[in-house]
Amino acid sequence: MPEIKETCDQGLLIVISGPSGAGKGTLCSALQRKMPNLRYSISATTRPPRKGEIDGVNYYFFSKEEFLKKVEAGEFLEWAEVYGNYYGTLKSEVGKLLKQGADVLLEIDIQGAMQIKKKFPQAVFIFIVPPSLEELRKRIIKRGTDSPEVIEKRLRCAADELSFIDEYDYVVVNDELEKALDKLVAIITAEKCRSRRVRLF
Ligand code: 5GP
Repeated sequence: MPEIKETCDQGLLIVISGPSGAGKGTLCSALQRKMPNLRYSISATTRPPRKGEIDGVNYYFFSKEEFLKKVEAGEFLEWAEVYGNYYGTLKSEVGKLLKQGADVLLEIDIQGAMQIKKKFPQAVFIFIVPPSLEELRKRIIKRGTDSPEVIEKRLRCAADELSFIDEYDYVVVNDELEKALDKLVAIITAEKCRSRRVRLF
């Protein structure tokens, strides 16, 4: 029997969404440390940087004019308006990572995820939820980065967002970080073993 090697023709595209405060950011950073072939796609946004955020590391920070010019030029794989700001995934960013053979992680909102689903139905869609809306409120307040109005806006959106769960392949409740992380690793590992994605020899 010849030696069997598993290869994937192309990296996996993983889309993670969930209400703000569900802990997506922390989970995504921890996930990358656990899965070295997984690379985070840096999004573009018109939202001003928060304290400690660096252009080109956390986001590419653009003015509204710059962002809309890129929309016109067809440079986005998806984009959406979220809480009054524009956010989008640059084709160049994802293309660069997939070319490197990486699995690519998109941490984007539901509107963006639905656009990706139309273009790449083979992507894996994961929804992260907090254990309760009360816990979500506590986490957003504790983060201390948003004004009271924005906090209320985010909480109202969270309740609507939960109704989109059925559009996703998997739901992970983030009650304990380690447990949620183990589930994400299991999902991605299993998805990479799907027979349609694996080429032997
Ligand atoms: P934040 O301002 O807290 O960093 O992000 C706010 C929301 O924008 C989050 O739900 C996040 O998932 C979403 N978001 C971040 N990057 C993108 C993106 O490239 N496209 C879309 N559609 N949403 C994004």
